[in-house]
Amino acid sequence: MIIDGKKEAALIRDKIKKEIASLKIDRNKVPGLSVILIGDFAPSLIYVKNKEKNSKEVGINSEIIRYSDNITEKEILSKIEELNKNENVSGILVQLPLPKQINKEKIINAIHPKKDVDGFHPINVGNLSSGYKAIVPCTPLGCLLLIKKIEKSLSGKHAVIIGRSNLNGKPMAQLLLKENCTVTVVHSKTKDLKLECQKADILVAAVGVANLVKSDWVKKDSIIIDVGINKLGDRLVGDVDFESVKDKAKAITPVPGGVGPMTIACLLKNTLECFKAQ
Ligand code: NAP
Repeated sequence: MIIDGKKEAALIRDKIKKEIASLKIDRNKVPGLSVILIGDFAPSLIYVKNKEKNSKEVGINSEIIRYSDNITEKEILSKIEELNKNENVSGILVQLPLPKQINKEKIINAIHPKKDVDGFHPINVGNLSSGYKAIVPCTPLGCLLLIKKIEKSLSGKHAVIIGRSNLNGKPMAQLLLKENCTVTVVHSKTKDLKLECQKADILVAAVGVANLVKSDWVKKDSIIIDVGINKLGDRLVGDVDFESVKDKAKAITPVPGGVGPMTIACLLKNTLECFKAQ
């Protein structure tokens, strides 16, 4: 089975749109999302425009705040402070990567945890790892929703995650632990990657290496979630060699059209949750 991330994301957006429409009628208020974009790094520009377009489509008041590459850290911090205090702003997102003069940690820490739609603030990271209510990073949240579409109960499943980034691998591990999976996280220093992956009932690849996972790395009838987005010539491919793996897996996400659309849908979901919590 090929997991249709576009279709799942459209269902989520539809639900959000209806909820926002009724919030507007009941309370005459809608969620607001402020996205800070620094510089003109082409992929960031595409991501941010996509986020804005999707936000507007579901009725979120979205704004992009743009700065040139030479902006100071102080100016960004003061903008974040202003957005933290603004009642019409439910969520704040600072698009990464940042220019060298700006300290990513300081910026993430400055966003109010209740407005941290990316789920990167240490309070949200800590809440997630403690098993408490947290704002969860959008990509792993999207992956979990796709996995749960295939398998309702994940209890006792062996999940293997390739990659240990704060953005993907680590929160994915926390989410799957919460679902009572046995979780193995592998990375660039892992001794025998293939052997570890072969044990996975659920394999999540969040690496950034084109077609790394081959057919003989995966267990028959496993669920394969491919987070990777890699350019190969003029094509976009994932971290999983889709053609060779798709007939062995029970279910697999394609690239593009798998995890990507879910990431944006989960950003909208997080923005709505932040609005409601505030
Ligand atoms: P990252 O921060 O670069 O982390 C990559 C992880 O993979 C690291 O933990 C690294 O290990 C590990 N790794 C690298 N090469 C490896 C290898 N040959 N064997 C085993 N492990 C290896 O990347 P990221 O931000 O998590 O992103 C991962 C991929 O997901 C990228 O392709 C990115 O573009 C994509 N992405 C997609 C979405 C989406 O919406 N679909 C969202 C975000 C990111 P070490 O820790 O040991 O260095």
